[in-house]
Amino acid sequence: MNMIPEWFELADCAKPYVDRDLWYSEKPSERKEAVEICKQCPVHELCEEYGSDEKWGIWGGKDRGSDFERARREQAKRAKENQRRANYSARVRDAHRRAQAGDTDPETLHLAAVYERRLERNRQYHRSAAS
Ligand code: SF4
Repeated sequence: MNMIPEWFELADCAKPYVDRDLWYSEKPSERKEAVEICKQCPVHELCEEYGSDEKWGIWGGKDRGSDFERARREQAKRAKENQRRANYSARVRDAHRRAQAGDTDPETLHLAAVYERRLERNRQYHRSAAS
């Protein structure tokens, strides 16, 4: 997840003596312990709302799931997809450089055209954001 919200400073689970691993533990007894701590937490309502889309862990005293195998699989799938996109972007940038240097290979020209379209979309986005 994302950026840490300001209210997290007030969270009971942010106290230095609290073991944060309880909130993501695979042991039911430890998860129960985390839920009990959440019940006393001054920001539990904000936390529950914040974690409402989470698929695992405990948020505002609500157990969002403990299917860690599924969570790991989803995480691995996302990491693979992110890597695939990063590789494609690197190929597109590289093709643009090669096309600028005179490479006329059809695959290079195709990817260089993708680069140009992305660049133009970026320009349009910044123009509309500025106006
Ligand atoms: S409600 Fe629980 S998980 Fe949320 S901030 Fe408080 S202690 Fe942490």
